[in-house]
Amino acid sequence: MFDRRNVLLLGAPASGKGTQSAYIIRDFGLAQLSTGDMLREAVRSGTELGKQAKKYMDEGQLVTDSVIIDLISEALKRPECAKGAIFDGFPRTVVQAEELDTMLKKHSTSLTHIVNIEVPDEVLIERAAGRRSCSKCGKVFHISFNPPSVAGVCDKCGGELIQRDDDNEATMAKRLKIFHDTTEKLLTYYERGTNLLTIDGMAPADEIYIGKLKVFLNDIPQKQQ
Ligand code: AMP
Repeated sequence: MFDRRNVLLLGAPASGKGTQSAYIIRDFGLAQLSTGDMLREAVRSGTELGKQAKKYMDEGQLVTDSVIIDLISEALKRPECAKGAIFDGFPRTVVQAEELDTMLKKHSTSLTHIVNIEVPDEVLIERAAGRRSCSKCGKVFHISFNPPSVAGVCDKCGGELIQRDDDNEATMAKRLKIFHDTTEKLLTYYERGTNLLTIDGMAPADEIYIGKLKVFLNDIPQKQQ
């Protein structure tokens, strides 16, 4: 498709991928494919997949590649993906990255933009510890950096704000270790030529988006057109 974008957001847990996704959805109308959100939905619905995945998630471990690849493969068939997609939290391993390339090829497309958001570990731990999300609409707050008007209540829909089970300090430390040991290696995988932008994730979210990300996304690499 002429104007199709497939954007990969690489970055550690709590680096701001979800926040940047919301801006991209608003301006470019892409579908957000967040494997973390899909898994949490499966846990909430009590499906067999959710029950299996929860054990890994609570331990801060990665869910099996084949399970994750099936989720994305199904999601890519949705009509919302016709304009392209934002991959948020996927791929996290080289096996997943290779499978994504194959899947996109089947849909006659490929990744157009890779975005690497960098934030120091100590800041990520602080962000995760204070992160609260709405149990109804999923909107994300932070108790210090972006608090709701009324403590514990979502500004957008009035839903109850909850803390993710895996955002505690011990689990976050494990998630960060896996990120550095495994997921960060994807940078080498993608440095081989795809359009890669590295962003300092310490800047305010709207500045990151307006100053860097939006400009980057406005341009679609020639080979996609
Ligand atoms: P996230 O919301 O992206 O931080 O994901 C929360 C948890 O879901 C992770 O700590 C993993 O247990 C699991 N998960 C999400 N995406 C993946 C993935 N691509 N591969 C393996 N496990 C994943």
